[in-house]
Amino acid sequence: MKPKRISILGATGSIGTSTLSVLEQTNEFDIFALTAHKRAKELGLLCERYRPRYAVLGSGDAARDLAMTLAAKGIATEVLVGEEGLKRVASHSEVSHVMAAIVGGGGLAPTFAAAESGKTVLLANKEALVMAGSIFMSAIAASGAQLLPVDSEHNAIFQCLGQTAAVGADVSRILLTGSGGPFLQTPLADLAQVTPEDACRHPNWDMGRKISVDSATMMNKGLELIEASWLFNVPSDKIEFLIHPQSIVHSMVEFIDGSVVAQLGQPDMRTPIAHTLAFPDRQASGVERLDFSRLAELSFQSPDYERFPLLTLAREVAEGPLSQSVVLNAANEVAVAAFLNAGLPYLQIAPTIQKVVHQAEPLELLTIDDVLAYDQTARDLTNNLLATYD
Ligand code: NAD
Ligand code: MG
Repeated sequence: MKPKRISILGATGSIGTSTLSVLEQTNEFDIFALTAHKRAKELGLLCERYRPRYAVLGSGDAARDLAMTLAAKGIATEVLVGEEGLKRVASHSEVSHVMAAIVGGGGLAPTFAAAESGKTVLLANKEALVMAGSIFMSAIAASGAQLLPVDSEHNAIFQCLGQTAAVGADVSRILLTGSGGPFLQTPLADLAQVTPEDACRHPNWDMGRKISVDSATMMNKGLELIEASWLFNVPSDKIEFLIHPQSIVHSMVEFIDGSVVAQLGQPDMRTPIAHTLAFPDRQASGVERLDFSRLAELSFQSPDYERFPLLTLAREVAEGPLSQSVVLNAANEVAVAAFLNAGLPYLQIAPTIQKVVHQAEPLELLTIDDVLAYDQTARDLTNNLLATYD
């Protein structure tokens, strides 16, 4: 059997570091490449520890500095630069597995390169699938790549379906659970004042800042609706949102005979990561087992669409052309960055995205280059709108 060899895209992030921690539980994998955008120092430490063949950084200067530092320490890791470097380590002939854990649209080109070159793609980077939907799924089918969902809900659905992505006529609905984030109970009047720190303080999950804000607005669940409909080739109206504040049930599948199959576990991404790394086998993840005698309560409720208007918008977009998904994602990324870094009030995030989505003209997108060009247009539209705010 060919050795398992993995490139971890976004190795310094929350999913990336959890992946490295799960890999320490097994000796099945060679670590081929580790990548980061700006966190050169952290990537350097990872290179010292894991000695990958390649590292990739966003800028040429940072890559040269890292190469010199590593060479001085006698570490043979070769440091590549930017999107070309990412695509190279994602599609390299010696690589069997690619962990796609870059955040946002910056992950699309390298994740697509992995899909096109027939890798086992462990998909955390949901934005890539939201942006490229049909084009991405066609590339997977054409190359014979295997796509395994890392996102905990999708990983749960995959397991509930019996370790397959096929949804047959025997499935009546998919119940996509979400915690409701840090503002589930916050009085609506107080949302005007919430800060990035409040939004990033998730009650159950410890995640990167962008997805933490997405969880607060529940745009994360909206993106996950679109992600699930592509992954499982299922119409979005078969997928229901369900608030489950404890994040123990990670999603459920209901069959036509009334059976509901759920996947449960700690809110710890090492479980779905280990599941995808070992698939179709199982491996230890280092996650603490669930102690049912100490679980006080598992509760469920329908979402409040006034509190979470982006759920409604995402459902509308899920039923429309792919270009609308590109706009939804781009406007969200720009608005969330403005909230995190430029003082955009929390309550302006949703209306900004709504305006841009309703303003953008739908366009037929046939290639990844079409998607990337339209993504830029949508980012420009959003930035222009933000520039009109005072
Ligand atoms: P993070 O911000 O912690 O890490 C992001 C990683 O991507 C870092 O290594 C960073 O250097 C790299 N990166 C950022 N921008 C880049 C760019 N333009 N080009 C190349 N590299 C870039 O993010 P995260 O929380 O680990 O999330 C990663 C992805 O996984 C996201 O798509 C997120 O939606 C998804 N996801 C995360 C969780 C979680 O628990 N964190 C759960 C489910 C899904
Ligand atoms: Mg998720």
